[in-house]
Amino acid sequence: METRNLIAGRWTDISSSGSLEVVDPASDKVIARVPMCGASEALSALNSAYEFQPEWEATPPAQRAAVLHATAKLLVARKDALARIITQECGKPLAEAAGEVQYSAEYFLCAANEIQALNEMEVALDRPGVRGVVRHRAVGVCAAITPWNFPLAMLARKIAPALAAGCTQLAKPAEETPLSAFALAEILLECGLPPQCLQVLTGDAKSIATTWLMDGRVRKLSFTGSTETGRLLLRQCAQEIVRCSMELGGHAAFIILADADLQLAVQGALQAKFRNAGQTCICPNRFLVHENIASEFTARVAVAAAQLKIAPGMEADSKIGPLIHDAAVEKVRAHVADALARGGKLVCGGRTKEIPDRPDRFYEPTVIANCDPSMLCFEEETFGPVIPIMSVSSEREAIEVANSSPFGLAGYVFGGNDKTTLAVAQQLQCGVIGVNEAVPSNARAPFGGVKWSGFGREGGVWGLMEYVTTQYLAVRSLDK
Ligand code: ADP
Repeated sequence: METRNLIAGRWTDISSSGSLEVVDPASDKVIARVPMCGASEALSALNSAYEFQPEWEATPPAQRAAVLHATAKLLVARKDALARIITQECGKPLAEAAGEVQYSAEYFLCAANEIQALNEMEVALDRPGVRGVVRHRAVGVCAAITPWNFPLAMLARKIAPALAAGCTQLAKPAEETPLSAFALAEILLECGLPPQCLQVLTGDAKSIATTWLMDGRVRKLSFTGSTETGRLLLRQCAQEIVRCSMELGGHAAFIILADADLQLAVQGALQAKFRNAGQTCICPNRFLVHENIASEFTARVAVAAAQLKIAPGMEADSKIGPLIHDAAVEKVRAHVADALARGGKLVCGGRTKEIPDRPDRFYEPTVIANCDPSMLCFEEETFGPVIPIMSVSSEREAIEVANSSPFGLAGYVFGGNDKTTLAVAQQLQCGVIGVNEAVPSNARAPFGGVKWSGFGREGGVWGLMEYVTTQYLAVRSLDK
């Protein structure tokens, strides 16, 4: 398992200020130490990425795509080993981690295909003898800053289109989960990526980001993380007019209409809510259920939730692993206590499960009925396995409550009639919507938010377009 940084084409453990511990959240054991880099290493990485960028951009798209195709293949071939790394550093059940590897591979495949389909275009001008030509150029050196909840996929979403487009990429994974990033970099190099194309650094997030964003040579930042950090980075990007994609916090509503298929809605709720123990940015946080079916939905979802196996992610059949760290557990506790203090009714869960010799970090799947928008869990994402249910009397009320949040990443609508269900879905202020579907993300489709959830899209041709600039040439040809 690689634990060093990839800087200027070489694996190195040199750092200005010691090392960072990587801890398994399911055991509290230190599983690795990685370099604690700062400004000087960030600058070396940037120098190298900047130097190599023109050469990578000049490499034919088919050749760049070949590296990405090979990477997709090798990711799938090494799925089990990579899944174990993900589970060890972020805690999610192995089956989910394996799904994340597959999902990551699809981003490489998709970016490879999209870049080969991206052609020059002609614009019909109204000037005789002048041809309008539109082409796509690589943005330049790009920076990626990623979170811990999908340590491989969040990087894949950025690295794949960046490399496809001809950009070189600087990457700073989350301090909690750098090992998946190193594993991905190893695979890319093995598949023929010129080493200077990708730099992977761990360490002091603030000084690494400041060094990159204030330099002037980094032309794009793609960030996935909290809205608060996103704001800070946007301010820094303003200095050198760095182009940005921001995938920030979510606060998805899960609307269930009166005529919904309850079986499908219960299954969907479990699937969408409990992935990674509720620690994904598209996990539903506000369940808005029509009053005619609210009590039946509540009873059924609670019975199903209480049966999910809570265990370290490495154990077979684990469905709920540990939360990432103690602060995450405290946040869930605070949200649950606040909801109960304000009149919420605990239907199941509501505490951590004790597992011998394990840290107190395994939060039980929790269902709270009788919720309302005055509660903390309706204001911001809980990032834990909690289903707060509010009953609503109409579609209008559900839409109003859903849209009252400043966040707008994902939403879900379950209903028995396509026309009405779609009509409700289309009124939601968010970027990604599941319509009788609990797993809307797909590498071929655009993923991203509106309002405080950010801007920019990842996936498909939309993800690729974030890494190209459009160049227009008005050409008067003198050739005979
Ligand atoms: P989370 O709450 O999910 O940890 P953060 O926004 O704090 O979300 O972290 C997401 C990523 O942003 C991580 O890689 C983290 O190291 C990085 N990060 C956090 N603070 C800063 C900062 N001030 N400047 C640059 N990157 C940061």
